Amino acid sequence: MTDCIFCKIIKGEIPCSKIYENDKIMAFLDIMPVNKGHTLVVPKEHYETILDLPDDLLNELIVSTKKISKAVMKGVNADGFNIGVNTKEAAGQIIMHAHLHIIPRFSNDGLKSWPQSKYAEGEMDKVRESIVKFL
Ligand code: AMP
Ligand code: ZN
Repeated sequence: MTDCIFCKIIKGEIPCSKIYENDKIMAFLDIMPVNKGHTLVVPKEHYETILDLPDDLLNELIVSTKKISKAVMKGVNADGFNIGVNTKEAAGQIIMHAHLHIIPRFSNDGLKSWPQSKYAEGEMDKVRESIVKFL
């Protein structure tokens, strides 16, 4: 897509700190990292969200992410990592070109995971039923 920042990076029209590239996937450092080494893994072809990706490309994306995550962990001496996928605006997706975040984590980085809540009595069953009917 012509006005997509990630498409421009992939075409070489905008610079990036490239970490990895094959014929279908590219990975580069996030310019505003949660932690140093925060990496974005991106399919070269433009799809808006991961739900739009053909399954074989999604496989490529996740297998590449596994390989790259190991290098990121070693490269920045991380103790762990989170894989994040913001899907649609409500979930914080800003760049509408599907991508995965690899966020290196350190035992003392002070980051908290997302907050937790509780179900009311019987609510969990109803929610479960509302989901499984679509599978
Ligand atoms: P999101 O769409 O919320 O999953 O995240 C998009 C991510 O892309 C953000 O973490 C940005 O910091 C990052 N980002 C935006 N522009 C660039 C760029 N030119 N190079 C590298 N990362 C970028
Ligand atoms: Zn794009």
